Amino acid sequence: MAETVTNWAGNITYAAKELHRPHSLNALRNLVAGSSRVRVLGSGHSFNAIAEPGADGVLLSLDALAPEIDVDTTARTVRVGGGARYAELARVVHRHGLALGNMASLPHISVAGSVATGTHGSGVGNGPLASSVRAVEIVVADGSLERFTRGGTNRFGGVVTSLGALGVVTALTLDLEPAYEVEQHVFTEMPLEGLDQATFETVMSAAYSVSLFTDWRAPGFRQVWLKRRTDQPLPDFPWAAPATEKMHPVPGMSAVNCTEQSGVPGPWHERLPHFRAEFTPSSGAELQSEYLLPRESAVAALHALDGIRETLAPVLQTCEVRTVAADEQWLSPSYGRDTVALHFTWIEDTGTVLPVVRRLEEALAPFDPRPHWGKVFTTPAAGLRARYPRLDDFRDTVEDLDPRGTFSNTFVRDVLGR
Ligand SMILES: Cc1cc2nc3c(=O)[nH]c(=O)nc-3n(C[C@H](O)[C@H](O)[C@H](O)COP(=O)(O)OP(=O)(O)OC[C@H]3O[C@@H](n4cnc5c(N)ncnc54)[C@H](O)[C@@H]3O)c2cc1C
Repeated sequence: MAETVTNWAGNITYAAKELHRPHSLNALRNLVAGSSRVRVLGSGHSFNAIAEPGADGVLLSLDALAPEIDVDTTARTVRVGGGARYAELARVVHRHGLALGNMASLPHISVAGSVATGTHGSGVGNGPLASSVRAVEIVVADGSLERFTRGGTNRFGGVVTSLGALGVVTALTLDLEPAYEVEQHVFTEMPLEGLDQATFETVMSAAYSVSLFTDWRAPGFRQVWLKRRTDQPLPDFPWAAPATEKMHPVPGMSAVNCTEQSGVPGPWHERLPHFRAEFTPSSGAELQSEYLLPRESAVAALHALDGIRETLAPVLQTCEVRTVAADEQWLSPSYGRDTVALHFTWIEDTGTVLPVVRRLEEALAPFDPRPHWGKVFTTPAAGLRARYPRLDDFRDTVEDLDPRGTFSNTFVRDVLGR
C-alpha cells in the first residue's frame, strides 16, 4: 500500500511510493542489487530533496536493521550501524568512559545522514562531524560491500561526505577520546558595532564551542553561548553580559527543550547539542538555510547581513553564527578552509521564505559561500561546482562505484553537472 513519507520538517513529500525497511544486511543487499534507483533516508532532517529517489525509485530506511554500536575501548573507536542516531550512540559511548569530539545542535539526527551532508557543530578547532570518521562500509549498486579507511585509499576524501551518491552506508567507524564534561555559559546583547575580525576570532575562540544568535531585528547579537570543556580554562568574556535566565535560541520560546545552561557541568553529550534528545529540537515549525564562508570574511559578511536586516527579520526565527575547522572531505562545505557558518532558522512558509533566501544569497555572494547540502538554497549548482576544487575527483569516484547511476537523483546530478 502506498504510504506518504515526508522529511522531519514536512516541507518535502517524497515521490517514492513506499519506505522499504529491510530486516537484514542480506535483504538490503538483494534489494539494492535488484533495483535500478535507490536512495537512503536517514532521520529525514534535511530540508530539501537530497534524499528523493523519484516516483519509480526505492526509498530505503535502515531503521529495521539490528542496531549495532560496538565500542573498542583500546583503540578508542566505535563502529556504528548506518541507521544509528547520535543520541543513542552518545549514551553508549559515554557508558564506556569515552566521547565524540563534537556534536551538532541536536542529537536526533542519524550519523550516516549527518556526515553525508557535512553536518557540523561549532568550535575554531573542531572540524565537521565527518572528520571523526575513520572507516566507512558501503553497499554499492551490485549489492557488494566495500570498506574504505582513512589513509587506506586516496578516495577517502570522497566517500564520507558523499550526499548518499555512492551506495548505502551500512556502518561507520568513528574516533573517540576520553569522556569530558562541558558547561554552558550564556551571555546576552553583544554589539556588532566595533567588532573587528581579530575580536571576532577571540570571541569564537573563548571556549571549545561558541555560537552567536540574533534575530536581526536590531544590529548585533541577542545571545552568545559558550560551551566550555571543564578541562580547559574558564573564559573571561567582557563582550556581553551574563544571562540572568535560561534561554532558547528562538526568542520567546521556553528553554525547557534546551540542554542545561547556567554553567552547570555535565557530560559532553548533554551540553554540546543545544537541544535535549527527549524534546523537539529547535522550534519544530521551520525551514533552515546555512552558508559556509572563509572565516576571514566573517565580520564583512555579518555587516552584509546587517545591511539586509529588514528583509531577513520578518521571516527569521533565529540566525546562528558558528565556526568549523577546515577538513578534507572533497564535498564538505568546510573543505580546505577554516570556516564561519551562517545559519538561518526561517518560518515554515516556503513561498515567503524563498525570495528572502535569494536576496540573502546575493548579499553573501562576494564571500564565496558554500550552502549546507541538507538545507534550503537556491544557488544554481553550476555556480557551486567552481567552489569545490575536488569536484572532478568526486565525479570519478561516483562513476567508478556507481556506473549505472543507481544512487543518483536530480539533486546529485545537478551537483555533478551531468
Ligand atoms: C532541527 C534541526 C537542527 C539541525 N542542526 C544542525 C546543526 O547543528 N548543524 C548542521 O550542520 N546541520 C544541522 N541540521 C541539518 C541536518 O544535520 C542534516 O540535514 C543531516 O543530513 C541530517 O541527517 P539525516 O540522517 O536526517 O539525513 P537525511 O536528511 O535523512 O539524509 C541526508 C542525506 O544523507 C543520505 N543518507 C542518509 N543515511 C544514509 C545511509 N545510511 N547511506 C547512504 N546515504 C545516506 C540521504 O540519502 C541524503 O542524501 C539540522 C536539522 C534540523 C531539522
